Amino acid sequence: MNLGLSLLYAAERTPDADAVVDGETRLTYRDLQQVAATLAAGLAALGVGQGNRVAVVLKNRREAVELYWACQWLGAVVVPLSWRVAATAVAYCVADSGATVAVFEEASFEHALACGDTVEHLVAVGTAGDGSSAGLAERLRAAGCAARCETDADLLAAGEASGPAPPPADLDDRQTSIFLYTSGTTGRPKGVPRSHAAERAGGLSQALHQSYRPGERTLGVMPLYHTMGIHTLLAAQIVGGCFVCQPDWDAAAALELVESERIGSLYLAPTLFHDLVHSPGLTTAEVSSVRALAYAGAAMTSALVERCVAVFAPEVFINHYGSTEVYTYSVHFDQRAAPGCAGRPATNARLRLVRPEPGAGPGDEVAPGEIGEIVCHLGSDEAFAGYWKRPDADARAIRDGWYFTGDLGRCDTGGNLWIVGRIDDMIISGGENVHPLEVEDVLERAPGVREVAVVGLPDDRWGQAVTAFVVLDADAAGATGEAAAARLDAHCLASADLARFKRPRRYHFPDALPKSPSGKILRRLLREQAAEPAGGASG
Ligand code: AMP
Repeated sequence: MNLGLSLLYAAERTPDADAVVDGETRLTYRDLQQVAATLAAGLAALGVGQGNRVAVVLKNRREAVELYWACQWLGAVVVPLSWRVAATAVAYCVADSGATVAVFEEASFEHALACGDTVEHLVAVGTAGDGSSAGLAERLRAAGCAARCETDADLLAAGEASGPAPPPADLDDRQTSIFLYTSGTTGRPKGVPRSHAAERAGGLSQALHQSYRPGERTLGVMPLYHTMGIHTLLAAQIVGGCFVCQPDWDAAAALELVESERIGSLYLAPTLFHDLVHSPGLTTAEVSSVRALAYAGAAMTSALVERCVAVFAPEVFINHYGSTEVYTYSVHFDQRAAPGCAGRPATNARLRLVRPEPGAGPGDEVAPGEIGEIVCHLGSDEAFAGYWKRPDADARAIRDGWYFTGDLGRCDTGGNLWIVGRIDDMIISGGENVHPLEVEDVLERAPGVREVAVVGLPDDRWGQAVTAFVVLDADAAGATGEAAAARLDAHCLASADLARFKRPRRYHFPDALPKSPSGKILRRLLREQAAEPAGGASG
């Protein structure tokens, strides 16, 4: 079943249920279907047909949700892109995708300018009723963009003028629904085309794994240009639930939305949970509506899991391990019992651990208990079928029908998977393998430590020196430098969970850690930016 039909079914099943909330605006499923169909007709009037790409560079706001569903209704391919990255990166993705229409807002004005000569139409979205979209379109025209510059109101008007709202496209569900561009820690971003079937399977499995109930209410803050955001939207739609938009991340405001919108399920990157459970707003917020917690994108430390449990006392607390390419790899259902554990293969997944060596195939499995590269069978309902115009990347990542994730993991005796880290992040120090996560997990537990990232930096003696970047709590921040490094070194030495040789040899105390929009710590940037050591530990 394609996603246009999926929306139609939801609108017929629960027409009056809340589908989207954005500030003062509330859309029911009836409203959402109607606006999606009208916008679909408007896009068609711009010449967009089945399979054509529409780039959307918007924050998580109602218009981003409406355009997403308009594309599904029409059978066009939505290409959501980040407004947080450089305009040139967006222009690259827009050109690479071959989009003919790009939709933008004030926050992505520079991005619109950068692709103003690539697309045929630029559509400006402003604040409803205040005329700002017309102003934005005018500024683009004035800047000399070759594209025609319209507003979302023009798009709606064109849709309305084209007659009765069209039915959802008659579309095979193997057709492409969306291109997601991978954040890619190195190299050019890669387009990941995903079919209607794969996307719907991902939404269904999320609803199942995270035990969504009919009418589930979720916080829509993970970006809609990232797989977590899109599947939050899809899983909510599948159960007739509500996506409560939060355009800009702010922990205190998120807590207010949890309370006012009675949000039942939170699916966020660990960083966002970290902000939530350390927010001063917690003392007054009423969060008892939250029943289910789930995180993905990066491992959560034990300390953070414990804090989330203390704050939310959730009924379910899930670790979802997955990627843009294949939505869900594995799920662990009770983080309280095993913090950080990635669990067993998800309902649509089949996984193996193979020797982490160039040229290894899916048959080169490691012995039980050993660390290996996690590979996922592409027979999964949720899997992609290959990158957009990137045979080089296909050749690296896809071997004999299996997707090579680039992640290292090991399986415990109970059959549960533990993520060890990216192959590229592994540190080889003094000839021994050190995985950043095992060191970070210990350091996070030291008093006064807010956040930590561990990388390997070139070192004459060790080859790579285990180096910690530690963000201290405000009240501990005065004590940086050698004293803080010595205190943390003593903490590591006293820990039974960390071999002596794995403890950091160098410490840095930045004010914050660089992160990707989906909350991943950008270790590559840390490695590049690392200055002279600020404090050392000997021995
Ligand atoms: P993305 O395609 O941006 O979703 O990134 C996928 C990558 O994020 C995976 O290959 C992992 O490296 C990492 N990742 C996703 N989920 C988890 C998780 N639950 N635990 C640890 N790493 C994760």
